[in-house]
Amino acid sequence: MLNFRLVAKFVYALVFTIGCAVLSSCGDAQRAETADESPDFAPLHSQIVKKGEHPALRPKKRKQKEVDLHGVDLSTPPDGFVYLSPDVRGKIDAGFDVEGAPAWSGVVIHSSGEDSGSAASLRYHHERVLKFADGMVYHFVIGNGNGAPDGSVAVGSCWINGQRGAGVKDGERSPRIEICLVGDFHDAGPTKAQLEALRELLAKFESRLGEFSAADCLGHDEVEFNRRSCPGRYFPLDAVKHRHGG
Ligand SMILES: [Zn+2]
Repeated sequence: MLNFRLVAKFVYALVFTIGCAVLSSCGDAQRAETADESPDFAPLHSQIVKKGEHPALRPKKRKQKEVDLHGVDLSTPPDGFVYLSPDVRGKIDAGFDVEGAPAWSGVVIHSSGEDSGSAASLRYHHERVLKFADGMVYHFVIGNGNGAPDGSVAVGSCWINGQRGAGVKDGERSPRIEICLVGDFHDAGPTKAQLEALRELLAKFESRLGEFSAADCLGHDEVEFNRRSCPGRYFPLDAVKHRHGG
């Protein structure tokens, strides 16, 4: 009698275990099917998904905060150049005319992510710390009064040499002029002088390339995913993009 009870318990446990195994393998099959059919299903770890190939991995536009423009009207061209010195304007023209320079198709705007800095400190960081072969990765750096004069515009060697910048890692995209504003725009926006300098820079570029549309003026976030927000939610990207309407 005792033996019969033990055998019955063993058989019951065996049936229960097999039942669970069958049920769970059905669940796996169901999940695998869902992953294949639905583009919204997160990619499996074993799958290789290239940048931008899966909807979940596309660059996201972060919500912009209300930004103080300090009375700078980005929608009107500047009366004249205050922040772009004749020397800088000459370098800009020379960079456009370098033989073999890319056919620039607009701008990408970055922030340095630090409260202070300059083209020289960025160059040091890119060359000595990050060991980038081509030095400072941006074409232009606009100072904020903390490390470089407020609204000062420095020209990077990649612009002078007519080369693409390297602030955006995804190399096969259209060649864009890369502008970096010194600052960390996660709590506060750029200074008045930085916005004035940016307005002058954009006007200078447009005098050579024609008026930029909204799609020609991009934030770093819009072309590269999965990274710290750049230029940051307190940068007035919408005002820059839509300054000619559209
Ligand atoms: Zn950036």
